[in-house]
Amino acid sequence: MKKKGFSSRSVHGGKDIHLSNRPEAMPIYQTSVFTFDDLSHMESYFEPSSDSYLYSRDKNPNPSALEQVYADLEGGEAAVVTSSGMAGICAGILSCVQAGDHVLCSSEIYGVTGALLEKELNRLGVEYSFASFHDLSSVESAIQPNTKAFVTEVVANPLLTVMDIGALADLAHAHQCQLIVDSTFTSPYVIRPLEFGADIVVHSATKYLNGHNDVTAGVVISDQGKINRTREIIVRMGCNLGPFEAWLALRGIKTFALRMKQHCENGMKIAQFLAQHPKIEKVYYPGLPTHPTFAVAEKLLDGRYGGMVSFKVVDDKEKINRFIRTLESINLAPSLAGVASTLSHPMMTSHRAWSPEKQQTWGITMGLLRLSVGIEDAEDIIADLEQALEQL
Ligand code: PLP
Repeated sequence: MKKKGFSSRSVHGGKDIHLSNRPEAMPIYQTSVFTFDDLSHMESYFEPSSDSYLYSRDKNPNPSALEQVYADLEGGEAAVVTSSGMAGICAGILSCVQAGDHVLCSSEIYGVTGALLEKELNRLGVEYSFASFHDLSSVESAIQPNTKAFVTEVVANPLLTVMDIGALADLAHAHQCQLIVDSTFTSPYVIRPLEFGADIVVHSATKYLNGHNDVTAGVVISDQGKINRTREIIVRMGCNLGPFEAWLALRGIKTFALRMKQHCENGMKIAQFLAQHPKIEKVYYPGLPTHPTFAVAEKLLDGRYGGMVSFKVVDDKEKINRFIRTLESINLAPSLAGVASTLSHPMMTSHRAWSPEKQQTWGITMGLLRLSVGIEDAEDIIADLEQALEQL
């Protein structure tokens, strides 16, 4: 055949690499589309048992591999990964409701989840209301004839209230509703809500599942039927996870159990340290017997209480600023669950949109700080906190 021209050679060159063995680490399938030999080959893609790929918004080997691991760790039949935690929450809710239905949501919920119901789904005809999910009788009295789904977190931000997922699942099912649980703060190392009867579990995989603050991702886990429906929504909305993010998250999940063990051990040590410190007014940690929902945490969390610790110091902005600036290795960074300890200020970030009255009622004051305890040596985290607390 005649030698191809310069442009053709640059477009089609480099395709003669064939492997006779498998790489130990999964390659990144950084492609938006896959090729077929002919129409019959392409036709086979649409068969249910097909293991081929067509277009990466529908399916790509990196997200597929991540879905397998997440579904397995969470104890679900199937999973679908998404471009962010919010994309997963949105698709999970949309898979349960249509215009005219009502969603009952925990008042202690991630602000953007509340805003999704309030500002977006509501204008499309999905009704919503909030209730205190740690109080079953107030949840029951808020159920409406058109309620189709309950939405809650297991451990809510920032006071780390633990919700009784088993009891909520029973209540939801008694009223023909589905229970959607955001388990971002807990992760499957601490609890697997499907085992307690939840219908759908969602995560911001940006947090503990990935653990390195370098990926934004989400996941929805459930039975095969619900995931098939959720995947249709995700493909149509175009909020799938890209191959590179999936590859990074697949790398992150390999050390998940080790990271979580250290997060949980450190979390307890830091909570105990803060609880006895004279400058600390209050500590919120699900594993401390002083926490209002300790009994539920003991029942559900199997002795693993996670790495999130909130605490209250003096309500003085100047002093809080000095405390933050004095910290040497704990950065002010409004996310959570990375390997490095980070601090967040709920009043100025996650709960900024709340009215001052609501903030006051819930105890979201200037002096409330939320620490995401990392996997460093606990003594070093404590030493850093100790020297900064002297500024208060
Ligand atoms: N759920 C919880 C509990 C969160 O804290 C967050 C983000 O902070 C989200 C969901 C949203 O996740 P993402 O930022 O990955 O969209």
